[in-house]
Amino acid sequence: MKRLVLASNNAKKMKELDALLAPLGFEVIAQGSLGIPEAEEPHVTFVENALAKARHAAKHSGLPALADDSGLCVRALGGAPGVISARYGGEPKSDARNNDKLLAELAGQADRTAHFVSVLVLVRHADDPQPLIAEGEWHGEIIAERRGDGGFGYDPLFYLPDFGRTAAELDADTKNRVSHRGRAMQKLIERLPAL
Ligand code: IMP
Repeated sequence: MKRLVLASNNAKKMKELDALLAPLGFEVIAQGSLGIPEAEEPHVTFVENALAKARHAAKHSGLPALADDSGLCVRALGGAPGVISARYGGEPKSDARNNDKLLAELAGQADRTAHFVSVLVLVRHADDPQPLIAEGEWHGEIIAERRGDGGFGYDPLFYLPDFGRTAAELDADTKNRVSHRGRAMQKLIERLPAL
């Protein structure tokens, strides 16, 4: 079984990644269980932040590491909250405050289109010169009131016209199959034998 450190402290995000990787024979280890602190995410792009997180986890663990940097990009807000999605409503991080702020910023706005982005970066070791990188998108609309209690983050406001549901109303398997993170993972998996 191949061991892989997950460079995240977001328990719900890690559960999704674990569900995608466990069937492939990966033993996934949360960086927190190894006492590895959260990495800084100072960059303005998802890919730079994901790389910083993966490298940080590999350096501290001595193991291959996988990071996801993800976020919500809303067209009417010029792509915000983007890379600051986790902290949009301020510190400490709060999904409830993030969603409240999103609704306030979109009040009276007709264009509600938005998409999630996930960039996955896998490094074999901290100085890996050729990380595996994969990106996925998931397109939907921001509705005016929360619906559903599954998932995490902005899921209760992210409506999928094809399903007639929000992301928070999808079961976990369905979300993993069609989400930004699921799509990025499918692309990464195609390249995993190179690990
Ligand atoms: P990160 O941990 O810095 O990558 O922050 C990702 C943030 O983007 C999360 O805290 C959520 O606010 C948001 N996000 C990313 N993926 C999802 C998702 O699948 N559903 C809802 N919100 C998400």
